Amino acid sequence: MIIARTIDELQEAKNTLLGSIGFVPTMGALHEGHLSLIRKAREENENLIVSIFVNPTQFLDGEDLDKYPRKDEADIKICQLASVDILFMPAISQMYERDELCIGAPMISGYVLEGASRPGHFDGMLQVVMKLLNLSGATKAYFGKKDAQQLALIMQMVRDYFLDVEIVPCDIVRESSGLALSSRNVYLSTEEKIRALALSKSLQKATNLIISGELDSAQIKAEMVEILSVVDEVEYVAIVDRTFNEIDKVEIGNSMILVAAWVGKPRLIDNIWV
Ligand code: AMP
Repeated sequence: MIIARTIDELQEAKNTLLGSIGFVPTMGALHEGHLSLIRKAREENENLIVSIFVNPTQFLDGEDLDKYPRKDEADIKICQLASVDILFMPAISQMYERDELCIGAPMISGYVLEGASRPGHFDGMLQVVMKLLNLSGATKAYFGKKDAQQLALIMQMVRDYFLDVEIVPCDIVRESSGLALSSRNVYLSTEEKIRALALSKSLQKATNLIISGELDSAQIKAEMVEILSVVDEVEYVAIVDRTFNEIDKVEIGNSMILVAAWVGKPRLIDNIWV
């Protein structure tokens, strides 16, 4: 595995590759969720590039940029074991100029839910993903459904800017308890981890209600909120269609249920696609 820390090193390493390139962008502190993307990309492509870059422009003032978990040595070993060809770990100065052209998230779907809670987050996310996709030269890039709105906006950017890359959505990986894996879970104490299960439990409850024929969004959300009473703060519970418009009735095959909540220090998100 080649570790490239500069754009030049990345380009040089890429020159040694022949054939298709799969790409998995991450912010590191790798866990089984990231690994599921890496394994899928490994299977489906001749070459595999993974990036680890904690992107400052997608963190808002007061968010956890400085405290975001960093585990470079462990991450390098994980990537080696996963047969990654190139691990791209750039410094911020490699990725950004002082006065940059910026990409803006769409004014509607980029400013609801996560975009409403974290205005500006998606601009920074799209900006770095555009850079990373271009640098990687990937034919396929892999993203988790855990960040459902992020995934949808990246797919839209690829369409709107005619980027020549296939975005591959990957299922959410969970602990056996149901908790969706996240780099931010390391902030949870044992007691908080138990309360954090309310997110996946509320989504499980929603699934059971839908299976039993309940499609009314207000009714489903009310039952979810009850389960979520143990978290410190619920930021949103939403039932939306695939373009993130809130819907009054679940449309099976075209709906998502999303939740964001604070438990102790971290803000956690989870969702199901129904
Ligand atoms: P991050 O390092 O948090 O930026 O995540 C990098 C990629 O891994 C994103 O595409 C995430 O959606 C994906 N990811 C993070 N957690 C999970 C998970 N539990 N299951 C599946 N994909 C995940």
